[in-house]
Amino acid sequence: MPKYVYDFTEGNKDLKDLLGGKGANLAEMTNLGLPVPPGFTITTEACRSFLSDGVLPPGLEEEIGEHLTALEKQVGRRLGQADDPLLVSVRSGAKFSMPGMMETVLNIGLNDESVHGLAKQAGGNERFAWDSYRRLIQMFGKTVQGIDGELFDDAFEELKNGRGDLDLDAAELRGLVETFKGIVRAETGRDFPADPREQLRMAVMAVFESWNAPRAILYRRQERIPADLGTAVNVCTMVFGNCGMDSGTGVAFTRDPGTGRQGVYGDYLQNAQGEDVVAGIRNTMPLQELETIDKTSYDELMRIMEKLENHYRDLCDIEFTIETGKLWMLQTRVGKRTAGAAFRIAVQLVDQGLIDLDEAITRVTGDQLAQLMFPRFAKDESRTRVTKGMNASPGAAVGKAVFSSERAAELAARGEDVILVRRETNPDDLAGMIAARGILTSRGGKTSHAAVVARGMGKTCVCGAEELEVSTKERRFTAPGGVEVAEGDVISIDGSTGEVFLGEVPVVASPVVEYFEGADDTEDELVQAVHRLMTHADAVRRLRVRANADNAEDAARARRFGAQGIGLCRTEHMFLGERRQLVEDLVLATTDEERERALAALEPLQKADFTEIFQAMDGLPVTVRLIDPPLHEFLPDYTELSVKVALAGEQATDKDRRLLAAVKRLHEQNPMLGLRGVRLGLVIPGLFAMQVRAIAEAAKAVPGARAEIMIPLVGAVQELEQVRDEAGRILAETGVDALVGTMIEVPRAALTAGQIAEAAQFFSFGTNDLTQMTWGFSRDDVEAAFFSKYLDLGVFGVSPFETLDRDGVGRLVRIAAEEGRRTRPDLKLGICGEHGGDPDSIHFCHEVGLDYVSCSPFRIPVARLEAGRAALTGTGSDTR
Ligand code: PEP
Ligand code: MG
Repeated sequence: MPKYVYDFTEGNKDLKDLLGGKGANLAEMTNLGLPVPPGFTITTEACRSFLSDGVLPPGLEEEIGEHLTALEKQVGRRLGQADDPLLVSVRSGAKFSMPGMMETVLNIGLNDESVHGLAKQAGGNERFAWDSYRRLIQMFGKTVQGIDGELFDDAFEELKNGRGDLDLDAAELRGLVETFKGIVRAETGRDFPADPREQLRMAVMAVFESWNAPRAILYRRQERIPADLGTAVNVCTMVFGNCGMDSGTGVAFTRDPGTGRQGVYGDYLQNAQGEDVVAGIRNTMPLQELETIDKTSYDELMRIMEKLENHYRDLCDIEFTIETGKLWMLQTRVGKRTAGAAFRIAVQLVDQGLIDLDEAITRVTGDQLAQLMFPRFAKDESRTRVTKGMNASPGAAVGKAVFSSERAAELAARGEDVILVRRETNPDDLAGMIAARGILTSRGGKTSHAAVVARGMGKTCVCGAEELEVSTKERRFTAPGGVEVAEGDVISIDGSTGEVFLGEVPVVASPVVEYFEGADDTEDELVQAVHRLMTHADAVRRLRVRANADNAEDAARARRFGAQGIGLCRTEHMFLGERRQLVEDLVLATTDEERERALAALEPLQKADFTEIFQAMDGLPVTVRLIDPPLHEFLPDYTELSVKVALAGEQATDKDRRLLAAVKRLHEQNPMLGLRGVRLGLVIPGLFAMQVRAIAEAAKAVPGARAEIMIPLVGAVQELEQVRDEAGRILAETGVDALVGTMIEVPRAALTAGQIAEAAQFFSFGTNDLTQMTWGFSRDDVEAAFFSKYLDLGVFGVSPFETLDRDGVGRLVRIAAEEGRRTRPDLKLGICGEHGGDPDSIHFCHEVGLDYVSCSPFRIPVARLEAGRAALTGTGSDTR
């Protein structure tokens, strides 16, 4: 039987898979000798077993019982013991942090008897004991028993009657406990469970179940966290921050998670418990003020934070509680940070000698780099500043103000940009936060829910803009100077400065993009950090990076961004616009002469296209793909043309009639599986030859040009041989040296790659089509039709069109790479599907030995960085 429960003394930080992040780090801190309240962790394996079988795995309850008994011995109290109770907290903790997404229950072990024991323990502090008890019923009722939390909140508000929560006395809180118990009885038909062990058992199951709460599922999907990991459960001796003004609870970072600067960053709340800080219930004080309130605890905290940062060699965030002057560490982890801070911190740690450059580039991700390439607000004198809050998550966001998550999702679904404005957010706002361009709150600090979640998502957020009076009911906010903003009014928020503006403020490119564009005289600390890490990534990567570009402008940008060639120049885009006419002539040609005339008209235009691109790439390789899509894509729409011809009646032109006949003839039920790619080349004489001639002539005209001719949609070597032979003749005639190769995008091509390599000098994996054909998913339809359902059901954790499906599509890529190279050891291998710019897929490409990835120009820096990371981490490691 597996071991399901680990004491904090048994684990360590590397056991995150099994113990979750929180459990693993509690164990690490325990072993470092830091003041962690004793406890134990129930593994993710137990959770997975529970979620699949619907019952706790055999043996788990006994094991929990044994650890609980050991814990009771250690602290000298029994769980819920009437005169001197041990109380515990039950907290979720998954491998990847999911702030606020899953459940926590505090004060387990309280009942009508032990509440008196607790008061005794606290030196007769009745108020504290009853406050703790009401919290238990409230949390337990909501999270374990599924009672609507508002019922408790409303009863609490009614009792407070405008007073603060600290103004209630013991008798009032005792009355509240009775009210809460009444709510539980009314809602569940049963009394609140008084048996402490029963409370514990139920809480553990509720935490397991919260893994599949809708908001947790949504968060995982957003953050690409696999659905099947499960959460661990931490059972920890309670310590109390709500014992009085010499107690409190707080969160802190060892560096500013917004800028990376070292210092003391955090929030502290006196006489408060657990989630009060993160939830932004009362406004917190800056952590520095703790120094004047309780210098001993503050100094100890500073020492611990330094120790943690040196131990983890990274920014750590922590949660702590002070119980009547005694400091306790409740959590630490390597902290989330903004993209900019990630780059700065990585370089700072190098300069401090804590890590080397190799490790530094594993500390930043391609996704973070992509975020830094977002635009920012222009410095515009004329803009109207409404207020300034905290710069919680950087970026520039413009949109209509909305005041509820539902409204945000609704307007965003209509394609509108919205800013979600709330007093504070809670986990139920997640859908609106995802839908919004940015988030603005009037309460809560940098560690509030809004801030933490927005940073994790890379979404612009300004929080704690306290001058704003937000009315969710009236859907508006007011700001100093009589400013009013109602739903639908456009505002702009700057997550880097915390400023809020009326109306739309113009945005400008990011300095990081300007750096990639070639501005090299910048003093910007962030740009310098990016420069150092990119330089190192370029030095260590094995994969080369090319661009998908089909015009000179994109090609030039791609080069500035560091592309080492073009991996896919799609020629079909060159047949649109005014040139459609020429394609129509080609399709309507009934004689060889007509067809040749149409092709002859296209050839010089194509030659000019290729010449510009070769010039822009200045001697770097350019893979030109011969025309790929079905021809009807270049012709008028069937229905529109039918209507036009029908309405015109006798007056319909001959051309329109012939076109209509051609459109009918070319109509296909499954055009993506029809007459396209190499099939077109073989069916329409002279089409590919015209393109090859244009490529060859252009290459001849540009000194140093390196052309590679690529044939799409090949499934059999015989197809390729015919085109290759024809291309070979033309190249020989023009005296141009160019490689001829194929895309591997049909499963049959991957499976017969050994044969195909006889006729191909290179392969480029077209993973868009390869994914479509391997899964049998229409790439144009399925994502909108049912992928969200598939993601909900956990069929896959991320769309296979976004991240390469290693097991299926990836297997075909492996087979083709291996068998192709067996035939032709110097076979050049690349990828040009969308996956070429996706971090996880890039790691896979490194792993299977491809020579290059090719992606859109804006993804080039991301690909360079990820290729460097892949080279250092070896295999396709975690790219988040
Ligand atoms: C592919 O199929 O992956 C590919 C790059 O070609 P296209 O997207 O043009 O079909
Ligand atoms: Mg394709």
